[in-house]
Amino acid sequence: MDKPHISLICPCHNEQRVVEQFFIEVETILNKLSLSYEMIFINDGSTDATLDELIKLSTAHKQVRIINLSRNFGKEAALTAGLDLAKGDAVIPIDADLQDPPELIIDFVREWKNGFDVVVAKRVDRSSDTFSKRVTASLFYKFHNSIARPEIPDNVGDFRLISRRVVKAIQLLPENQRFMKGIFSWVGFKTAVVEYTRQPRAAGETSFNGWRLWNFALEGITSFSTAPLRVWLYLGVLLSTIAFVYGSVIIIRTMMSGVDLPGYASILSAILFFGGIQLIGLGVMGEYIGRIYMEVKGRPVYIVESDSDDKPKKTSD
Ligand code: UDP
Ligand code: MG
Repeated sequence: MDKPHISLICPCHNEQRVVEQFFIEVETILNKLSLSYEMIFINDGSTDATLDELIKLSTAHKQVRIINLSRNFGKEAALTAGLDLAKGDAVIPIDADLQDPPELIIDFVREWKNGFDVVVAKRVDRSSDTFSKRVTASLFYKFHNSIARPEIPDNVGDFRLISRRVVKAIQLLPENQRFMKGIFSWVGFKTAVVEYTRQPRAAGETSFNGWRLWNFALEGITSFSTAPLRVWLYLGVLLSTIAFVYGSVIIIRTMMSGVDLPGYASILSAILFFGGIQLIGLGVMGEYIGRIYMEVKGRPVYIVESDSDDKPKKTSD
């Protein structure tokens, strides 16, 4: 196939119930644009019939390519695989569950032709998400942006258009643990924003439950900020100052009014308090050390088991 103008990259993890509908809806939109395109589906270790559904599509449509990963590597790795293998002048990551409305692609392409290298989709209405997801997401963005640079725009997901030179910039980032939202904003470039309302899932279930989202948030913060490490220096200075002042007060009081019997309760609470603080500090350090450990191993981000284009097997490095 000739070099396509746009490449769609769709990570799929257990999406057997939606891929066909997704393909039909996206194809209708893409056919309205007089651009050539390819659709790359990354099968991220699905345990259902997603791969069979995808094979049906790729047999019938030559613009469909399947990258089948050797197991579940996570959405960030699947997106990385898609970015590495896409050939288009512009690349659009899009969820397979139709939560990212395909008609926005038309706006993306318009802004891209207007000279923007990045066109992001901002959710103005998240009422399709649960209340707790909305609250935790908004807390995450606030906290992340108060300590990490560059800021990530809130309510902007992975659904966006990026030009070839942005893809090249992203590929310069060698990290193993890839928090794509952060990576996308780290590389910069001229960005346009398109607003939309987030739809509920067309079918199937979300892969991101509370625990996975929590780890995702930790990933984002530790990947783009060292503030959680530095805070201990200031906390330590504050606590030792308090201890020093308190110690001086005790000494002066003892000199003026004789020996006071030290209280068991106050000593115990001080020991527990400082013990707790130190463990939290160690825990934070542990988070970063764990990440350094995973990074220095230098393992590839994903492994391709098969590629419907039948290229030689390759990995991200
Ligand atoms: N996904 C993936 N690998 C995973 C989890 C999810 O490729 O390990 C894909 C999934 O198939 C979907 C997209 O990432 O296309 C977003 O996942 P999901 O809809 O579960 O997340 P949510 O929209 O609920 O945040
Ligand atoms: Mg979804």
